[in-house]
Amino acid sequence: PVEPETLSVRGLGVRYGGVVALDGVDLQIEPGSVIGLMGPNGAGKTTFIDAVTGFVRPVTGTIHIGGAEVTRRAAWRRSRLGMSRSFQSLELIDDITVRENLLAAAEEQNGRHYLTDMIWPRKPPFSAAAAAAVREFGLAEVLDRMPSEIPYGTRRLVAIARAVASSPSILLLDEPGAGLDETESAELGRLVRGLADRWGMSVLLVEHDVRMLMETCDRILVLDFGEPIFEGTPSEVAEEPAVLAAYLGRS
Ligand code: ATP
Repeated sequence: PVEPETLSVRGLGVRYGGVVALDGVDLQIEPGSVIGLMGPNGAGKTTFIDAVTGFVRPVTGTIHIGGAEVTRRAAWRRSRLGMSRSFQSLELIDDITVRENLLAAAEEQNGRHYLTDMIWPRKPPFSAAAAAAVREFGLAEVLDRMPSEIPYGTRRLVAIARAVASSPSILLLDEPGAGLDETESAELGRLVRGLADRWGMSVLLVEHDVRMLMETCDRILVLDFGEPIFEGTPSEVAEEPAVLAAYLGRS
């Protein structure tokens, strides 16, 4: 189990030059819940994760991790307070093993930089969270392989294991199911659900795979052109005409 922490986002706004990427977005994620973020291409989903984690600076709004306001704090400080993310593009380090990718992630959160600061003994132990992720995600057999040598679906699991290796309270996943087939994404949805149910994380799930969102999330926020257009349970979202219109309007 992780330290339980609530993520609260109020009135978040982000602009890139003249483009309004997010406008007035509110979202709260309690420990043990999975909140989905859904919307057509360019709706602002990745921008939301970037702003919440400190990769881009918002023009309006506040971000709290529990009682601490982090709106203007550096990304690494947010990480120390228990926030972690995964990337749509995976961002694994390709010339070290899967094991070393997981070790590096856990150490970075402790303020050390594996690649520059540390000389490892041959096989240093994993953090409890990394060991649990290896077990739950079935990664034991690929630990000594390079990321490029393992199947794509397994690489995606490594990216999530890396994000949870530091035992985060708040986990933001950017399209973890991209490129997976139906069986793989159903399994991934169950793993993500377990991170909330059994580890106690507050999880944000950004996903294009609507079925996975529906099966995994407690609630879903729908964005369109950076604006929140609907928020509700998966079945409420499925029946909402405004959501359907947002998707049809783009195709
Ligand atoms: P996708 O589903 O395609 O990943 P998204 O919902 O994650 O899309 P964002 O990538 O957050 O959407 O983009 C939101 C808007 O901001 C889009 O109009 C996009 O073109 C624009 N945008 C994103 N990043 C930048 C940037 N670095 N500079 C300028 N505009 C950007």
